[in-house]
Amino acid sequence: MPDLRSRFDAVFGGGSAPGPALPEGAVSDDWFARPACRNCGTAMTSAYCGACGQKAARRFVVRDIRTETWDRLRLFELKSVRTLGRLVVAPGTVARDYVLGRRAAYMHPLKLLVATVAILVLLLAGSQYFNVYADVQRDAVVKRMAGQVLAYSNWSFSLGIVAIVAAARLMFRHRLGYNLIEVTVLAIYCQSVVLAFISINLLPTLIWHDPAFILAHKSASQLYIPALKTLVVMVAYRQFYRLSWRSDWPRLILAGMMFSAINWTLLRFYAWAILWLVSH
Ligand SMILES: [Zn+2]
Repeated sequence: MPDLRSRFDAVFGGGSAPGPALPEGAVSDDWFARPACRNCGTAMTSAYCGACGQKAARRFVVRDIRTETWDRLRLFELKSVRTLGRLVVAPGTVARDYVLGRRAAYMHPLKLLVATVAILVLLLAGSQYFNVYADVQRDAVVKRMAGQVLAYSNWSFSLGIVAIVAAARLMFRHRLGYNLIEVTVLAIYCQSVVLAFISINLLPTLIWHDPAFILAHKSASQLYIPALKTLVVMVAYRQFYRLSWRSDWPRLILAGMMFSAINWTLLRFYAWAILWLVSH
């Protein structure tokens, strides 16, 4: 399989690390003192390499373990908290900033999505939210099917993204010249906010395990969560496409309704497809 091998090498670098050769001998201070990037070899004049972006490397000392780890954790948390905080009030503006190139200030949309999905999945597992049903149950087959549906349901978190993109393309296709990927950035940020709201909404069920409370919470959530989702999407469209409530409200409301309809249809189709898969 020479073709596969060469492809593997192209992706993973074929075993040898990229960049200039590293010295074979002992680790020395002299090696780090030279004014060249230790990652790519380019001559360096500032604290960061102009070619690959790596910070000037120094020898590791004990203190680095603490500061490096802490800096990384803090940076990740600060960025995600700051991005989420700003997203709650201005999802469309964050997406537009990001599309226009202000990227270091915000968390990468996919990283944020993975983080919010992970938190939601953990909360759902912890709260036993799906284990309390209204009347069905005790039927082993139904229980087994419910389990399998649950296993697939994590994927449904991405359906909202498709609905946000589809409604945006239908309603604002030629506005401001965004391409499909740029609209997808908006959709992923929006979905992250929605998932964060859903996670916050679940918090009470972690404290009160009473099945009656969980059932009441579920039926109430089914009313206001879709409304909240649609509101987030409408606010985001308004900011991303630079519209105004005063003059563009009919388009925004129509876009919100279209998002709801597409999202609802996708979820029903998804549920139907999973039931079909599980029962065949
Ligand atoms: Zn470099």
